[in-house]
Parts: sequence; C-alpha cells; structure tokens
Amino acid sequence: MTETAPKSTLPYPPVHYGKQFVVLSDWDGTITNCDSNDYMTDNLGYGKEKRRDGNLDILSGKTTFRDEFRRMLDSVSANGHTLDECKEVLKQNIKLDPGFRDFYRYCKSKDIPVVIVSSGMEPIIRSVLSALVTPEEAAEIDIISNDVDVHLDGTWSIKYRHPTSGYGHDKSQAILPYRALPEPPTLFFFGDGVSDMSAARHADVLFVKQKNDGENDLAAYCKREGIPHILFSDFGAALNTVKAIVEGSKTADAALAEGRAE
Ligand SMILES: [Mg+2]
Repeated sequence: MTETAPKSTLPYPPVHYGKQFVVLSDWDGTITNCDSNDYMTDNLGYGKEKRRDGNLDILSGKTTFRDEFRRMLDSVSANGHTLDECKEVLKQNIKLDPGFRDFYRYCKSKDIPVVIVSSGMEPIIRSVLSALVTPEEAAEIDIISNDVDVHLDGTWSIKYRHPTSGYGHDKSQAILPYRALPEPPTLFFFGDGVSDMSAARHADVLFVKQKNDGENDLAAYCKREGIPHILFSDFGAALNTVKAIVEGSKTADAALAEGRAE
C-alpha cells in the first residue's frame, strides 16, 4: 500500500469482530438486477450513450469515477427530478437479484455478516432496500456508501464519503479494517462495475457479476489487471460456491482457480 487512507466525511458502522467469514457487497447491479444510478442517468438524466462513454473513460483512466459519476447524477437533478421523485421511480423499477434473499438468509444462519458497500447514496439505497426485503432485514443490513445533499431549491447532489479520492468512496477502506484484525476473517467481495475497482484487489475471494447487457466493466478491469476472481450470474450460483468454502468442501484458492460459480 503506497497511498494513505483518504479522510472519511461520513461515519462507518462498527467492524464485526470474531467472525470467520464476512461478506461485503456492492449494491447497484450486484444485489439489484439493475444499477439505480445508471437507471436514473439513462432515463431521467443525460442518457445512456453519454453514460457509457463516461464509464469507458473511467475504465481507461481518462477521468475519475468521482468526477464522472457526479456529472451523471447532476444531469438528473438538472432535469428537475427531485430526490423523492427518484426514490419512487427506483422503487418501481429496481428488483433484487433472484438469489439474494436465500443467499442473505444462509449467511445469517451461519453468523456471516453481510455489509453493503456502495458508491450510491444511502437514502436511495435504504428506500429501495426496504421495498425489496422485510423491514427487519432492511434495518439490520449495514450500508457503507455515499450520501446526498438536498439544497433549499430542491436540487440535490451526491455527498462523497472520500471527496479527496478519485473513487469518491474508496471501497478498500471498508475492507482493510478486517484485514488488520489479529485473526482476520475470510472476506468475500461481490461487485460488477467501475465503482468496485477500488475494492477488487483487497478481498480474499472476489466475485464478479456477469451481465447480459455487455456492461461487464469490473470483469474487464480484473482481466486487464490480472486480479483473480469468480464470475457469477446471480447469487443463487454464488451461494453454491460460498457454501462449499464455508462448509469446507472447497478451498478459496480452488474456487478462484475454477473462476466461475455455477
Ligand atoms: Mg455496481
């Protein structure tokens, strides 16, 4: 590690001590079937073509995630869409990965914490999450994300957790405290896109979601950087691999060598 940790403007939930396994997962496009920020940008903001160009510029290093993502979201607010309106639109259009509920319940039964690590905005995630799982589950899941500033005139903008980082939210900072524990747990990380590039290197077992829409940005990044990972199409498939590792029928290294959850 050469870089110093960026200062966080937002609090972190307490670290889960004494666990053998911890799951950290991206929210948008990973736990959900589609990315809520992409959905807003494509349908309420400046549109899909500009957004894809922006994502590819992030992937190639031409711009930072922080600056491009802010432009995407600003285009939604600039078109007159309030935060409350966005929440409603997203609640109606964003669904859960079909295997996530069972995956979550399995983790709970095995005392494995599941923490959402997102570059999205907490009020939107909570609002969508509460529409998708039981209120008890929605309340007990930790979320480490960015936040939102709502201005007096009704416009809104993203409030970054790590404004000095090019990632806006450097997800590695949610992982590293676990690595520093005297007896660190095995860390599973799940992601799909450019917002997960900051976390990709730091998990023990990295799961990368494979999508049918051609937007496999994290997979492209891991391939280019030579980062070992397991491709998965949904949490039902990922659960089979997680179960095998947790219950000892497969090592993490063997699962990574296979490279695919089925
Ligand atoms: Mg994502």
